Amino acid sequence: MISHLLKNGIIVTVNPDREVFFKGAIAIKDDKIVEVGPSEELEKKYTDCEKVTDLGGKVVFPGFVNTHNHLFQTLLRGLGDDMVLKDWLSTMTFPAATNLTQDDCYHGAMLGLMEGIHSGITTNLDYMYPHPRTDLDDGVIRAMRELGIRGIFGRGCMDTGEKYGVHPGIMQTREQIEKEVRYCFEKYHNCDNGRIKVWVAPAAMWSNTRENLQNLWKITNEYKSGFTVHISETEFDRDAAEDLHGKPDIDAMIDMGICGPNVLMVHCVHLTDEDIKKCEKYDLKISHNVCSNMYLSSGVCRIPDLLKAGVTCSLGVDGAASNNANDMVELMKNTALLQKVATRDPLSMTAEKVVEMATIDGARAVGLEKEIGSLEAGKKADLVVFDPYECVKAVPLHNPCSTLVYSASLKNITDVMVDGREIMKDGVILTVKDEKAELKAAQKAAEDLCVRGHITNRMEGHKWNDSYRKYEKR
Ligand SMILES: [Zn+2]
Repeated sequence: MISHLLKNGIIVTVNPDREVFFKGAIAIKDDKIVEVGPSEELEKKYTDCEKVTDLGGKVVFPGFVNTHNHLFQTLLRGLGDDMVLKDWLSTMTFPAATNLTQDDCYHGAMLGLMEGIHSGITTNLDYMYPHPRTDLDDGVIRAMRELGIRGIFGRGCMDTGEKYGVHPGIMQTREQIEKEVRYCFEKYHNCDNGRIKVWVAPAAMWSNTRENLQNLWKITNEYKSGFTVHISETEFDRDAAEDLHGKPDIDAMIDMGICGPNVLMVHCVHLTDEDIKKCEKYDLKISHNVCSNMYLSSGVCRIPDLLKAGVTCSLGVDGAASNNANDMVELMKNTALLQKVATRDPLSMTAEKVVEMATIDGARAVGLEKEIGSLEAGKKADLVVFDPYECVKAVPLHNPCSTLVYSASLKNITDVMVDGREIMKDGVILTVKDEKAELKAAQKAAEDLCVRGHITNRMEGHKWNDSYRKYEKR
């Protein structure tokens, strides 16, 4: 017997043939997809179903994969706007990161993940900042598990970098890092029907010693897991790595033997032609974080060149202190537009390619392409239902990928399923008791964190930012 038949919808499969069934259906048994095809056929074939949903022409996409986030930063949303990086770090990021409690991490993660679910994210890779307290990791993972999302927890770490401005309060010794990383693996890796994974997430090449990085790589492979690191977000990343390791960050990483399909490099804005060849050679994966790159004026990642070289490029929202959202729908539009402007070629990025990056390429980037990323028989039932009539800007719908990428809002995402379980229905998240109460709890946690961290850039303490005046004729 089938657990759930979704019929009479537009099914954008993102399967190898990129089939779209305009009158389609999906049959699900437990956590897996049994069949995707024409609605009429599937309705005839599967008459014995526990549950039938008539989609009434709504669109179904594979669940979106967000390959980079810092969920705790959701509490810092709006505090670091329009600053240079040095001020962004000293005004709020480091004061917050050094004053986090487990509850802050939980509420920040709940807020960020709830927003993510509303925007269709079914898999979220969180890159928890380096920190010295084990129980903070538990706070983030608790939110992932409660919400029922597919969660990859990247345990952040650094054991050096004071010289380059790292706050000593969030550094740890190599021994402490190994202990904490192993704690996360032993306690959580592959729990909840495999929905929760643990990854290793050193902050940057210049904030970790060679010994620490090589040890972390060893642990990564011991647990058959993944390794994610910020690479070449700025020129500083390359220069500081060269100062510490004698080579720019990507070369230093490869030189240490840290390379392979389970390495996910975040940002990669300043890659050279030679670097791009190395990405292809070692099958290194990319997490492209367009909103953050624009927000922090980092530059433009060379996505079309990377794609031409056959490199897998996925999408990341990055932390809400540099976005300021966890909204995949908004991210998709920005992804397309920035490449068009950077290349001055409207064909350099299409709506369809952006959908691939948000789904199957995202799945590949986190090593889950056999399980998720497309709607196909045998894969996990992770999907998103899109209703154009929920937001005026999405009407008329002529091409579902175009509507999703260029004229949708998170209001259009009405239902979200992970592992065959509906975690959002009709715009309401079913795995949280009261969404508004959780929003209020997050607001309170954010305010309390500002008090503890002496972060004053809010309400009356925020001064009118007139730095733009240097560009104005007075
Ligand atoms: Zn990041």
